[in-house]
Amino acid sequence: MSINFLSELTGSFAMPARENPTVAMIESAYRHHKLDWRYINCEVAPKDLANAVAGARAMGWAGFNCSLPHKVAIIEHLDGLGESAKVIGAVNCAVRRNGVYIGENTDGKGFLQSLLTKINPAGKSAIIFGAGGAARACAVEMALSGLSSIWVVNRDLYRGRILADLINSKTKAKAHYRSWDGEYTIPENIDIVVNATSIGLFPDIKARVAVKNESLRPSLIIADIIPNPPRTRLVEEATARGCHVIDGLGMLINQGVISIKYWTGIDVDAGVMRKTVEEIFER
Ligand code: NDP
Repeated sequence: MSINFLSELTGSFAMPARENPTVAMIESAYRHHKLDWRYINCEVAPKDLANAVAGARAMGWAGFNCSLPHKVAIIEHLDGLGESAKVIGAVNCAVRRNGVYIGENTDGKGFLQSLLTKINPAGKSAIIFGAGGAARACAVEMALSGLSSIWVVNRDLYRGRILADLINSKTKAKAHYRSWDGEYTIPENIDIVVNATSIGLFPDIKARVAVKNESLRPSLIIADIIPNPPRTRLVEEATARGCHVIDGLGMLINQGVISIKYWTGIDVDAGVMRKTVEEIFER
């Protein structure tokens, strides 16, 4: 019996494979569904990326994930891109289709799936804090889903403007850059607020997204993409203010569910995967 090896081409994880949350999460789904597949974590240095992809091709892997710092650099080693990955300009999931590797971005799709549990972004207005790779993926997916307008609020003006320009040039949504000095007041006309910065990520769990607490109205959807810990200060504050809150675990789990669907064609149980990562992050 042959086994398809799916690998994460990553340079960012320092943990042993068995303690890597993504590996544990994906493999828990395989075990639950009795799928005869494996998902392994390989450390790949930037200089070795081309060889790593050649190796995956040679071994007939069904696909692989890649994380920072490979999400953009991987593109030149693939054979094509899915629609949103093309707009985002970054890939976190490669999928073998008809013998060639196509790059997809399941980060943004995973975020969108989480968001849809609370609101359909079509015709709505959003603020996104951050303008890095994750912000780009979330903003593009919302924009491609019919979001009406988006304010990109970022500390660095240059990066913020680049993301706003990307949304304006590649999607129908209207984007504006807003500077971020001190506590940011969420305007009345905003429906969705997304924290796509790295503020609050373990171990800096006390770090706070500078938002004026009184402007967190109960009608707002507040989505924090930080997966660890899932209950960030923003999640706690927005919950206390009565907002509709989405934590970062949903995005992490959904991107995994979508990746597995791409590779195997099977819809796996997101609940099993959530239980696995919650247990790891609670340790
Ligand atoms: P990047 O390094 O590309 O971007 C980081 C962003 O955070 C930048 O916009 C940066 O602003 C901003 N930022 C960082 N620190 C501060 C601060 N103290 N004050 C204001 N802004 C700050 O990272 P990524 O976009 O790749 O990832 C961002 C976060 O998203 C990570 O924490 C990651 O864990 C999370 N993530 C979650 C996923 C999930 O599945 N839940 C998937 C992917 C990522 P500036 O431009 O001014 O430097």
